[in-house]
Amino acid sequence: MGITMGYVTHLECSATGEKFDPNTVHNLSPAGKPLLVRYDLERMRAELDRDAQTLGPDGLWSYAALLPVDDPAHRVSLGEIATPLLPLPRTGARLNAARLWTKDEGRLPTGSFKARGMALAVSMAKRFGLTRLAIPTNGNAGAAMAAYGRAAGMEVFVFCPEETPDVNVREIALQGAKVWRVNGQIDQCGAIVRDGKERMGWFDVSTLKEPYRIEGKKTMGLELAEQLGWNVPDAILYPTGGGTGLIGMWKAFDELEALGWIGPKRPKMIAVQATGCAPIVRAWQEGTEHATRWENAATVASGIRVPQAVGDFLILRAVRDSGGFAIAVDDDAIMAAQADAARDDGVLLGPEGAATLAAWRAAVGNGQLDPKAHTVLFNCGTPLKYPMPPVSRSLNLDAIDWDAIASA
Ligand SMILES: *Cc1c(COP(=O)(O)O)cnc(C)c1O
Repeated sequence: MGITMGYVTHLECSATGEKFDPNTVHNLSPAGKPLLVRYDLERMRAELDRDAQTLGPDGLWSYAALLPVDDPAHRVSLGEIATPLLPLPRTGARLNAARLWTKDEGRLPTGSFKARGMALAVSMAKRFGLTRLAIPTNGNAGAAMAAYGRAAGMEVFVFCPEETPDVNVREIALQGAKVWRVNGQIDQCGAIVRDGKERMGWFDVSTLKEPYRIEGKKTMGLELAEQLGWNVPDAILYPTGGGTGLIGMWKAFDELEALGWIGPKRPKMIAVQATGCAPIVRAWQEGTEHATRWENAATVASGIRVPQAVGDFLILRAVRDSGGFAIAVDDDAIMAAQADAARDDGVLLGPEGAATLAAWRAAVGNGQLDPKAHTVLFNCGTPLKYPMPPVSRSLNLDAIDWDAIASA
């Protein structure tokens, strides 16, 4: 292995355990599986003080010692604040729950937690001198990559499935990326990125196909543990597409335990998908290690419309090892959950976040989850990029209809 600054020792194939030099550029391992960043946790344990790593105004960079970007000069940042944990008291009380929370990732730059992954991936791309990046996206990953890539002065190519919300395609373009709609799903857009690699000379930043987005998403687990006083909740419900965040948080908890910053307790990791695209749920029910592609994927929760995930076995492993489960909810339940949390608690969840609330309700209803459990729902993006139900009320200034206002 080459010389590294910081605590990174090597990259490791998540399937075979084979080790790789962290000082060179990597995509998937030769086995075609994601690479994970490994650290000298023993040395970290001896040298790092938990109480000196606390969240500050630098957000996720407060944990820089636990991340692979060694030289601050390589950091590409757009202000990755720590995201709030918000209580959902009335929403929870409907099912006799008192400790239901949402971690609102929609506050991050570009309006989603994709900013965490891209802050790390683009910073590492800068460290390696890469100047041209490409990605398939359902919207938010492309928006984040456009923003971070341009912040680093890089060229950014983005490929979106036809049904990607218009606002995402527009924000990607406005943020200086070259963006195309493609008549297919996200995995088929991923094939364009893969096939264009040689001709275009771009670096493939697809979910889990480079090692660093997962390190950025890992900071959700670090941040959550710190916000809970270096503890973990009983259950985490995660809207699962490619699964980077679920895998990243699971990795975070292992590293935190190795550092002695948290104990052995783990939350149940609950993978939430939509009934219109639920490959992980199907694989969990069938007890298989890998998930087969979901045909004709369709759901309003576009962030989790991922028919096939390269890290499927890592998602399933974390779910199983945690004693969690995978569960699917339909679009009607998602929209009803969104409306209820907004009206009852003033918290507007995105459809993906609302899917976790719908799943929590279903799981409490069928006895899979204890309503008394301390539960965190991940709201991974701002709802403001999605169409909302129309409003038809209006007033005429020449004849204000007070009866209509009073009876509204
Ligand atoms: C990308 C995305 C997800 C899914 O995240 P993964 O870590 O890829 O599973 C969920 N919600 C929103 C809003 C997203 O943008």
